[in-house]
Amino acid sequence: MTDCIFCRIVSGEIKGDLVYQDESVTAFRDVNPQAPVHVLIVPNTHIASIATLGDAELSQRLLAAAVRIAETEGLSHGFRLVTNTGPDAGQSVPHLHWHLLGGRPFGWPPG
Ligand code: 5GP
Ligand code: ZN
Repeated sequence: MTDCIFCRIVSGEIKGDLVYQDESVTAFRDVNPQAPVHVLIVPNTHIASIATLGDAELSQRLLAAAVRIAETEGLSHGFRLVTNTGPDAGQSVPHLHWHLLGGRPFGWPPG
């Protein structure tokens, strides 16, 4: 989708601070980080949210990439992996993304 910011980062049309990319998954640093490590992990194809993902293999690839990146980013004390879905969760970019957050303690429950 040419009007989707994350599709444009995946394709390289817009430069992102990439930390990982393969044939199905791209990960890049959030432009407005909420923690010392804040990486977004997205499918290379445009999927609006996890609610419409419906692809077990791609789901597994996204999660495996997130766990690997947590390791390479040195998040041995823990991390948070979250995908905001729809308006109540505050999803602002309608291209599925996991937030990988780490490098500081997080409160629970989230606001
Ligand atoms: P959401 O609110 O949908 O869960 O998360 C969207 C995230 O995308 C936000 O954390 C926001 O900072 C990030 N974001 C929005 N536009 C861009 C961009 O152009 N580049 C990068 N790297 N992150 C973006
Ligand atoms: Zn997209």
